[in-house]
Amino acid sequence: MPIPDHSALLKEHRLRSTQNSRAVLRLFTSAQRALSHGELSASLAPDVDRGTLYRILHRFESHGLVHRVPDDEVSVKFALCQHCSPQTHEDQHLHFKCQVCGHTHCLAQQSIPEISLPGGYQGQQTEVLLRGICPRCQVAD
Ligand SMILES: [Zn+2]
Ligand SMILES: [Zn+2]
Ligand SMILES: [Zn+2]
Repeated sequence: MPIPDHSALLKEHRLRSTQNSRAVLRLFTSAQRALSHGELSASLAPDVDRGTLYRILHRFESHGLVHRVPDDEVSVKFALCQHCSPQTHEDQHLHFKCQVCGHTHCLAQQSIPEISLPGGYQGQQTEVLLRGICPRCQVAD
């Protein structure tokens, strides 16, 4: 996989390229899995405070660069969007959480099956979190 051009990716999503926003984006592109606030801030320079990180994630999310990932932990996780833009931001795919390493991955090719609701209920968004063992943890044993 070629090294992504983080400045270009930010520009594509109409986001200002700052040192901090590039640093956060770099963490997502190199991790290739969902990351929590805690994981992100642990890998960032100490001078990037909580407020700055929250603002960056909020901007990334509203511009279709990352999406929220359901999780059973208190902390919210975010993952990089694959084909979203500021105009189209849909991440209706399954998410898989490994019970061994605790990592959450986007299963971007796996779309969420249609769920028929009882009368009177109108669904707007479905989040599916599958739990199991990821390929890497099955090999490692
Ligand atoms: Zn998205
Ligand atoms: Zn695992
Ligand atoms: Zn996802």
